[in-house]
Amino acid sequence: MKNITVLSGGMGGARFLQGLRHAVAHGTLPGVAADAEITVVANTADDLWMHGLKICPDLDTVMYTLGDGIDLERGWGRRDESWSVKDELAAYGVEPTWFGLGDRDIATHLVRTQMLDAGYPLSAVTGALCNRWRPGVRLLPMTDDRVETHVAIADPSAPSGRRVVHFQEYWVRLRAAVPAEAVVVVGLEESTPAPGVLDAITGADLVFLPPSNPVVSVGTILGVPGVRDALRATEAPVVGLSPIVGGTHVRGMAHQMLTSIGVEVTAGAVGLHYGSRAGAGAGGVLDGWLVDEQDADQVDAVRAAGLACAAVPLMMTDLDATAAMAAAAVELVR
Ligand code: GDP
Ligand code: CA
Repeated sequence: MKNITVLSGGMGGARFLQGLRHAVAHGTLPGVAADAEITVVANTADDLWMHGLKICPDLDTVMYTLGDGIDLERGWGRRDESWSVKDELAAYGVEPTWFGLGDRDIATHLVRTQMLDAGYPLSAVTGALCNRWRPGVRLLPMTDDRVETHVAIADPSAPSGRRVVHFQEYWVRLRAAVPAEAVVVVGLEESTPAPGVLDAITGADLVFLPPSNPVVSVGTILGVPGVRDALRATEAPVVGLSPIVGGTHVRGMAHQMLTSIGVEVTAGAVGLHYGSRAGAGAGGVLDGWLVDEQDADQVDAVRAAGLACAAVPLMMTDLDATAAMAAAAVELVR
């Protein structure tokens, strides 16, 4: 196998990619060539404009993580960051103040925004940024079009009783502490896959859905018209790894998003939500689903839906543990 494609969000996807890249380079993935190319289709529905800058949190998390520029403790943004610009903006009383914009990080957003203003599509801009970071994967945005996830939350002071906020405001400012009553992905249905995205899926030898948020990361990528059909049509096996372990998210706040779309917060339910390509339900995208050892009791129910399933350790504690997860996923669908 020479071509591997991964549909990724930010932190969970980036960590998985580190382990996957490590496993490929060391030849520890069964049947995968050590020089296999990894293509990453990243979620861009978290993107936002702020202070005149275009910010792409998931693309940047993948790029900085694989390019060894990430702040390891925070899991996002640049290492050795300083915050002078943010402090100066706050001194002017300029809103919003809740989004972490570091000085080093701002340089990335300046380059990106300038190139977009000059007419380059986001996919070309991402390629240019990666010329510096050399992430060792081909990094593609899911689309060059503007797509933004918005979340409806209760607001008794609003006439409708509801208010809609950008996903980043929900996630970062509100810390997902209030229920998400609905998730609306503005522009998704009218969007077009970025150049190379569909070919990366149909031409792959292996496709991964990493432990990323099933609603606001992988879910939005699957919603780009053509992506789900490409996954269903590809000859490559499609295998996913659960981001839910022991009935909860591992890092982050993914439970809120699952509840908002009516999916139970269990590893098995997420696998069944993605669905089997072979199963009776419409639109399934998976051939195999890995759950954590803690969730071994759910394996039978997943298998009953026509999916290969196994329970293995799914905590991405270090490179070797993550590489072993990738190997187990390949083994499951080989
Ligand atoms: P985001 O865009 O930064 O939110 O990142 P992703 O969507 O790629 O990933 C977030 C998901 O990764 C969350 O749902 C977490 O539960 C999951 N996650 C994070 N670390 C781990 C881990 O070590 N193991 C597993 N199985 N899932 C993880
Ligand atoms: Ca994200």
